[in-house]
Amino acid sequence: MASAVLRRRDLSKMWLGVDVLLRGHGGRFCRNFTSRRAPGGSRSESVLHVRFVTHFAIAFDIDGVLLRGGTPIPGAPAALRLLYDDPTLPAQLRIPYIFLTNGGGTTEAARALELSKQLHVPVLPDQVILGHTPFRKLADLFRNQRVLAVGKGEPDAVLRSYGFDHVVHMDSFVKEFENIDGLGRFKPWNQPLKEDDATPAADHLSKLAGVFVVSDPVDWSRDLQVICDVLRSDGKPGTEAVPGRPQPPIFFAADDYDYQSTFPVPRLGMGAFRIALESIYNRLPSAPLQYVSYGKPQLTVYKHAEHVLHDLSTQIISGALVGAPKTREPMHPPFESIYMIGDNPSTDILGARIAGPPWFPILTRTGCYRGQSISRLYEAGKVVEDVEEAVDFIIRREGLQ
Ligand SMILES: [Mg+2]
Repeated sequence: MASAVLRRRDLSKMWLGVDVLLRGHGGRFCRNFTSRRAPGGSRSESVLHVRFVTHFAIAFDIDGVLLRGGTPIPGAPAALRLLYDDPTLPAQLRIPYIFLTNGGGTTEAARALELSKQLHVPVLPDQVILGHTPFRKLADLFRNQRVLAVGKGEPDAVLRSYGFDHVVHMDSFVKEFENIDGLGRFKPWNQPLKEDDATPAADHLSKLAGVFVVSDPVDWSRDLQVICDVLRSDGKPGTEAVPGRPQPPIFFAADDYDYQSTFPVPRLGMGAFRIALESIYNRLPSAPLQYVSYGKPQLTVYKHAEHVLHDLSTQIISGALVGAPKTREPMHPPFESIYMIGDNPSTDILGARIAGPPWFPILTRTGCYRGQSISRLYEAGKVVEDVEEAVDFIIRREGLQ
């Protein structure tokens, strides 16, 4: 039994006995009363929600742990199903978990939908933390200012979903400057702009206040050139920088040097692009590149993940996942363990080690790490073959069946 909706007037007296009987390993039963309108009447009634809530939680990296390319790694869907009482219903989530990835290029809601289809479990948007999720907090700083969105997927739609109100996609921006990409005519994939993509005239004339590398850049030669042009100017390629004025800010969603895709050897990631940009930019007659990177292994990412997991647990306890009003009241005691399951020692594992307890890093051999020796800095609490073994280890360690 993991959840029930019981009437207060019928069962409140039974609760103390039930509480003692239902106490289990790895977590505890929590009760919460909410009010709702009684069926067929105007009178409100109290409803008791009973949920078993674990005192541990899990954060999964995606690429190289659950998916390779868009394909599930064997055992991944089965491992996730163990976290539900009924894996067809999001409300039947038993063990709080999130996806914590440096990847991105789509909104959290769209990624949740995609993950639900790929992994065959119901995923809520709140369970998805992407590399660029922290950009949401920067939207107010760029209110009424134009920013450049760079990367695969829909980087402009991502920034708009966070509240940025003047966003231009790199593909559209380059159309505003004739011959800005010296190799453009040699690129057979270059397409004329669709009418819907046309940039409003007012935006067309305004300079950029910042650059956001939302996801892995697709056309490195073009993007390196144009970003250098923007940063060494006053926010508009071809113009002179104002002496003494700082470089326009540039933000990277992550700093992964590489990541595991379908090719046997890891592919270059956003961190490699940042190194390329920095190397090139610092050869220009201007001050060294100033930039901000987010993503694992940054401590702020793990602290944000803890807040999200607490919110999720609160929703489970309060019954919000089964329709009760959402609450932000902290109802869940601090987690005793939060397991980070990842394949990359230099991001997933290092970040969990920097964050310290209650984080417990688990390293899989299905991605970047293939068993080579690594420094103590990147050592995991546990090394496993795959995510299925990782979840099995957690469940046994926590004394759950
Ligand atoms: Mg990975």
